[in-house]
Amino acid sequence: MGPKSKSAIVTGAGGGIGAAICRRLTGDGLPVAAWDFDGQSIERLKAGGAAAAAFRVDVSDPDLVERACAETVAALGPPSMLVNCAGILEVVDPLELSPESWRRVMGINLDGALYCTQAVARVMASYGGGSIVNIASIASLDAYPNRTAYVASKHGLLGLTRSTALDLARHQIRVNAVAPGVILTPLTESFKEDPAYARLLAGNPLRRWGRPEEMADAVAFLLSERASYITGALLPVDGGSSAVRE
Ligand code: NAD
Repeated sequence: MGPKSKSAIVTGAGGGIGAAICRRLTGDGLPVAAWDFDGQSIERLKAGGAAAAAFRVDVSDPDLVERACAETVAALGPPSMLVNCAGILEVVDPLELSPESWRRVMGINLDGALYCTQAVARVMASYGGGSIVNIASIASLDAYPNRTAYVASKHGLLGLTRSTALDLARHQIRVNAVAPGVILTPLTESFKEDPAYARLLAGNPLRRWGRPEEMADAVAFLLSERASYITGALLPVDGGSSAVRE
């Protein structure tokens, strides 16, 4: 038995991958609440028909997350799906990494996923369950240069995925993660010339960067009933790069 009503919340909805997920879920007929720190990007999504509702929220603030969750329930009914996609990347030598930068990255990428999971899963638990997908990274499994906080946050997100999958199963809530390889979005645009990315591309079996729509397909599958026996899993969507460690 799944949840009675179906609707989705996508955080980081205004970004490259988040917007593609909103378009895909809306295209599948689901009412989607777009959550993002950047209010303009989600209003554009709503105006373009890719989201039924838009909420400006900083996921690193648990009070704002609770408020956005209550407003979403009032607008669209109880959500049956959550995608934790909000994330930032800061590239800095670990010896120069400031406490502020560390906290910013951990606060959005890891704490934010926890706060959204808690707020939304409480609602899901009282309405028959649901499905959560965390946007992890190939950096959930391996290290990349000068990305100390990012790699730590994404390793943590895999731990959060597995432990919430274990504990939320009794509420009929599945929790999975996808691990994008290099996907061309505003997050990665400015690092195109970075030697670390050139090495990644050279070692990628499919020899190309991924598209946000390819992430959205994997997320839509894991959210859906077609994945009803999958929980606690990490699905790499990376052109095979995690299969060939060099
Ligand atoms: P993006 O920069 O295009 O989008 C990120 C979105 O998150 C932005 O719209 C931003 O406004 C939002 N955001 C930032 N801080 C927020 C906050 N405090 N509260 C709410 N929203 C906030 O990035 P993207 O490439 O679409 O990345 C999306 C996710 O995918 C991230 O978690 C990222 O780590 C992960 N990822 C991306 C790649 C890639 O190659 N693009 C690879 C691996 C993992």
